[in-house]
Amino acid sequence: MKYYIWTEGCQMNVADSQRLASAFEQLGYTASEAIENADVIILNTCMVRQSAEDKALGRLSSLKPLKIERPDLIIGLMGCMVGTKDQSVIRKKLPYVDVFAPPSDPKPIIDYLLEKELQEHDQNENPFVRQFTWESGELLLPESERRNPVSAYIPIVYGCSHACAYCIIPYKRGVERSRDPQEILDHARSLARQGVKEVTLLGQIIDRYAKDRPDYPTLAQLLEQIHEIDGIERIRFLTSHPNWMTDDLLDVVNRLPKVMRHIEVPAQAGNDVVLQNMHRGYTDAAYRALIAKIREKIPGVSIGTDIIVGFPGETEEQFEDTVSQLRDLKLNVVHLARYSPRTGTLSERTMVDDVPDSEKWRRFRVIEKLQEGIAAEIHQKLLDQTLPVLFEEKKKNRWVGRTENMDLVFVESQDDLTGKIIPVKISWTGPWTLIGTIAG
Ligand code: SAM
Repeated sequence: MKYYIWTEGCQMNVADSQRLASAFEQLGYTASEAIENADVIILNTCMVRQSAEDKALGRLSSLKPLKIERPDLIIGLMGCMVGTKDQSVIRKKLPYVDVFAPPSDPKPIIDYLLEKELQEHDQNENPFVRQFTWESGELLLPESERRNPVSAYIPIVYGCSHACAYCIIPYKRGVERSRDPQEILDHARSLARQGVKEVTLLGQIIDRYAKDRPDYPTLAQLLEQIHEIDGIERIRFLTSHPNWMTDDLLDVVNRLPKVMRHIEVPAQAGNDVVLQNMHRGYTDAAYRALIAKIREKIPGVSIGTDIIVGFPGETEEQFEDTVSQLRDLKLNVVHLARYSPRTGTLSERTMVDDVPDSEKWRRFRVIEKLQEGIAAEIHQKLLDQTLPVLFEEKKKNRWVGRTENMDLVFVESQDDLTGKIIPVKISWTGPWTLIGTIAG
C-alpha cells in the first residue's frame, strides 16, 4: 500500500505531515512518488489566506475523478480546513472524502486505516497492525528523510489563544496547549539518534510556552535542556510574539552556542492605530525598543518579521509608518502578506476590506523593493567572511545550506556535504542568497 501526503501552509503543518508519514510507515505503507499511484491520499490544508484555501479546494476537486475511477482509493483531509470543531458542514460538502483529521492530530486517519484493515483481513495477516501504537514515544523519520536527515521540526505549542483580529488560526487549531516537556525531549533525542543535526521548535506564539502550564519549564529552560542532547548541533525556535520575549530567553540565545542567533518576531504593521485594530497588543515604539534590546543582548543576531499590508482601514499615511519602521530597523527578513479576510475572524465580521487589491499589491511591492535593498546591504557585509554552514541537499549541482543567521548559501563541491557544518568563505552576495567556497 502506498501513501501520498500533500502539505500546504506553515511549518506546523509540515511537522504534522511528518508525524502522519511516520505512522503510515510503521503500518507498512510506503511513500508514493506520484499522487495517482497512491492508495491513500491526504491533503494537509491551510486557511491562513484565501489563496491557500483555494489551492486546497483545487487539489480536492482534481481528486474527485480519481475517486470515481478507483472507489477503493482513500482520500483524507487534514489541517485547518477541518479545524478542531464541528465537522458536519465540511463532511456534507465533501462526500468523497473518507476521513477527516484536525490540525496536529493525525490519529483519526490512522484509526480509520486500522479499522479498515481489521474489517477486511485477519489481523494476523498484517504484522504492522498488531504492533502499531500511537504512544511509542519515538518519532521515526519517514523513509524519504531517513536517507539524509538534517533538520526537523518539533511542535511545542499547539493551537493559539491570542486572537489577532485578522487571524483564523485560533478558530481552526484550538486553544493554546503546551506540549509535555518530557515528550519534547524524547522527540528531540529520537531525532538526534536518527542523525538529525538541527531542530526547530514550533508554536504560533512560541514564547508563550508553558504559560498554560506553570509546572512546565519556560522556553529558556527547555532550550537549555535540548542543548544538552548529543548530536543536536543547532536549535531554532519560531514564531515569537513581541509581548512575550523575556530577557531570560534572549540571554539563553546569546549564551548557548547551539541556539542560533535568529529571532522571528512579527510586527505585522508599524502604525499604532492599525496595530490596535489588529489587536496585537503593542505599539510601534515598543516594537522598536524590543528590536534594540534583542540586538544589544545578542550581538550578531538576525531578525525576521511578518507584515500584512492593506489591513481594513489602512491609509496611505499609516502604511508609510510601516515602511518607515522597516527602513529604520533594517531587519534581515520580511515575510509579506496582503490582507485576506477570513470568515469568522473579528476583522472579517466588523471591518470593511476597503483597500483595493491593486493597492494591496502596490504596497506589497513597495516593501518588497525596500527589503531587497536592505537585505542586499546586510549581505554585502558578509563578503569575504568565513561562516559555518549546515548543508541540507544538492540542487542543480550546487550544495545548499544555511548560516547560523538563516542565510541561504550555495557552494560547489564533489563531496557529500549533507548534514555537515563546514566553514564557507563568502565570494558573492545578493539580496536573497549567498555563494561561497569551502574554506581551508
Ligand atoms: N502566530 C504568529 C504571530 O503571532 O504573528 C505567526 C503565525 S501566522 C499563521 C503567519 C502569518 O500569516 C502571520 O504572521 C500574518 O502575517 C499572516 N496572516 C495571518 N492571517 C492573515 C490574513 N488574514 N491575511 C493576510 N495574512 C495573514
